[in-house]
Amino acid sequence: MKNLLGSSIKDLENVALDYGQAGFRGRQIYNWIYNYRNKKKNIDQIEVLPLDFRKRLKDDGFKVCDLSIYERNLANDGTLKLLLSTEDNESIECVGIPTEKRLTACLSSQVGCPMDCKFCATGKEGLKRSLKASEILDQILFIENEMNRKVTNIVFMGMGEPLLNIDELLVSIRSINEDFKISQRKITVSTVAVPKMINKLSAKSFQILGNCQFTLAISLHAPNQKIRETIIPSAKNYEIENIIEDCKQYVRDTGRRVSFEYLMLSGVNDKIEHANQLSNLLKGFQCHVNLIQYNQIDEVEFQRACLKNLQSFQSRLSHNGIAVSFRKSRGLDKNAACGQLRQNARN
Ligand code: SF4
Repeated sequence: MKNLLGSSIKDLENVALDYGQAGFRGRQIYNWIYNYRNKKKNIDQIEVLPLDFRKRLKDDGFKVCDLSIYERNLANDGTLKLLLSTEDNESIECVGIPTEKRLTACLSSQVGCPMDCKFCATGKEGLKRSLKASEILDQILFIENEMNRKVTNIVFMGMGEPLLNIDELLVSIRSINEDFKISQRKITVSTVAVPKMINKLSAKSFQILGNCQFTLAISLHAPNQKIRETIIPSAKNYEIENIIEDCKQYVRDTGRRVSFEYLMLSGVNDKIEHANQLSNLLKGFQCHVNLIQYNQIDEVEFQRACLKNLQSFQSRLSHNGIAVSFRKSRGLDKNAACGQLRQNARN
């Protein structure tokens, strides 16, 4: 089966020409695929195309969708979390986070995840497989379709480690940028950091996309190597100082500031001494720290840091000259933690 989602306008013109059709038929497919208002997801329902052309495409195994909705959860604040089934009966999550001006889509890049972060529901189940670019892109169309508006921003912060699926990630970023018309600057790739992969990400991005303008967000979550290893077991393969060095190189290569995600965990990493250590680690470096409230999951001992600690931590970073913001949790009332919806559906 060949999924047409993720194809460029040129690719689709060539498909039309291969079938003896005029090039504009390819543009018709293109306009149909990337229009979220088309709720139908079968190739034989592209009514602007001649019937026999649709039939031949279908008979030859072309399709435009891999996923279907398994469960839908709408939180009181408007955040929509979807559990989507894949063709091989796996499931992935994606989230639509609306504000007045933006609709941010939080996308999964893998089914499950091999990184085993101790605070994460997805990590509990290990990796099943990586997603194809068409499966990554389909999540955007489902969010747009269900929320009846265009996605404006993308974050790869759902299930999976994007840098372990780097080729499909970059293929999907090309399409998000050129076909979904979302600027690279509105795309964030979030990683717990895999050795050698930060450099590879920028190098491959220049090679495949011609530039590298999306935001890199590192899930740091700790001010030193010792604490990091207690919450992210894979951290033992990648010293925190080496991550920072590789990020500095990324800034030099791309001219883009790096973000550091920092999940505030009570008694683990939320003290003033930790804020000072983090400041020392990051000082003099063009970066930004995002403090995040933790979403509790069952069978994990971590607790959410209290608001007072969070505010003191933020003030100390600011005082030490580190750019910092606090990201409030959205959709908390509906299985908001990464991998939680999928896990609950299986229980
Ligand atoms: S936090 Fe991200 S990288 Fe870590 S286990 Fe969960 S999905 Fe994987």
